[in-house]
Amino acid sequence: MNGLRLPVFDALVTRPPSEQADLRHRDLLRGAFWQRIPAYANVDERTFLDHTWQATQTITRPTKLLELLRDLVPTSFLEDAEQGFARAPMSVRVSPYVLSLIDWEHPYEDPLRIQFVPVGSRLEPDHPELHLDSLHEQADSPVPGLTHRYADKALFLALDTCPVYCRYCTRSYAVGVDTEEVEKISLKVSTERWKRAFAYIASRPELEDIVVSGGDVYQLRAAQLEEIGDALLAIPHVRRVRFGTKGPAIMPQKILSDHAWTDALTRVVEKGRRLHKRVALHTHFNHPTEITGITEDAMNLLMERGVIVRSQSVLLRGVNDSADVMTQLVKRLGHVNVLPYYVYVHDLVSGVEDLRTSVQTAIDIEKHVRGATAGFATPTFVVDLPGGGGKRDAHSFEHYDRRTGISVYRAPSVKAERLFTMFDPVRDLPAEVRMRWASPRARAEMIRDALEAAEQAG
Ligand SMILES: *Cc1c(COP(=O)(O)O)cnc(C)c1O
Ligand code: SF4
Repeated sequence: MNGLRLPVFDALVTRPPSEQADLRHRDLLRGAFWQRIPAYANVDERTFLDHTWQATQTITRPTKLLELLRDLVPTSFLEDAEQGFARAPMSVRVSPYVLSLIDWEHPYEDPLRIQFVPVGSRLEPDHPELHLDSLHEQADSPVPGLTHRYADKALFLALDTCPVYCRYCTRSYAVGVDTEEVEKISLKVSTERWKRAFAYIASRPELEDIVVSGGDVYQLRAAQLEEIGDALLAIPHVRRVRFGTKGPAIMPQKILSDHAWTDALTRVVEKGRRLHKRVALHTHFNHPTEITGITEDAMNLLMERGVIVRSQSVLLRGVNDSADVMTQLVKRLGHVNVLPYYVYVHDLVSGVEDLRTSVQTAIDIEKHVRGATAGFATPTFVVDLPGGGGKRDAHSFEHYDRRTGISVYRAPSVKAERLFTMFDPVRDLPAEVRMRWASPRARAEMIRDALEAAEQAG
């Protein structure tokens, strides 16, 4: 401690006693909470902890979900959800675990319901500047399912299915079976396609970092996960591999009971460690309710295995767009040894405008979160720029007109010469500005003005 002055004495005097400190993040839900759902009233703990039961009982048809909810919610809610399903761009897929965590007495406000079950009455028109694949993932793809946008890292979409389908999914152009609203491109499990991706990565010595995502690596068989991990680790210049999965947030049971899968992941991590390469699991928690005693057990197991887990979140209106909820989420993640990595400002995605927030919301919440816990367990709030500019610190705009909701960013190490625009939801703008958004000419003018202001600022 030489020379490091810690204000210990001060802290003893001014800190409130611990009963007054906020320790809610440590209260993790345990016990047979799923038995509140009539359909699961007789399901015992062993069954509920079995990942094959979770997977086979996962709801994939709206009619099935509505049937299951019949005794839990008023008919008016069921009708509303029916409307929501008819208009949604994503298919339905919800695990019994998620369904059991929803407070069905307050379905409209519940943070998990909002993420997985659309209701017609809350839907809003898409933002006028929305284009499918707004992140340009397909345009930046040298091989189907491989996005090479940044110099030293690439995103490899190994498959196109997930253990659940999230309403707000950025990849709704690819993920999930077709719905009436969106015709999807196909990224099936294909060793042939994977080999082309590995060959491309091997041919580009600048690539050091590969994100394996999808879809979701939870859906890969143990042998497939290991095949991908081994193939990437065998490429000398690949130094970092991340496996992306929503799994721990929606079915932590798998980590505890799918021994083949967890062992395969462990072997890839260990092999990486022997090669002095980093392999990590990247997951996706949005709300503290998603973290239960089961999650803690699963994360403890990964901790014991030496598997590093990081989490990214999407800032979702009505779910986690308050300083209190986001702080609780970050602290609870830290408590179960998951490192918060990013909080994304919600991208422009079709059919989920009701979930988006402004860039300003992210900036405001960040102020509260930073300082609430260890800096290395504090996420960076980012905007993933439409048009393929990549992720930018939300604060780092060249220009932000809060009145029109237009922010402008640069990404010098991605696409040096370009300016990129991001758009706040129109809903919260002044009435006069909302009218201008409705007119294509006024819209073009507002965007041009913002770009000019950014040019002058930079
Ligand atoms: C997010 C992303 C990455 C990884 O970026 P990090 O900032 O290192 O997490 C790589 N490629 C693409 C296309 C991405 O969207
Ligand atoms: S798990 Fe990820 S990729 Fe799959 S639907 Fe949800 S957000 Fe999209």
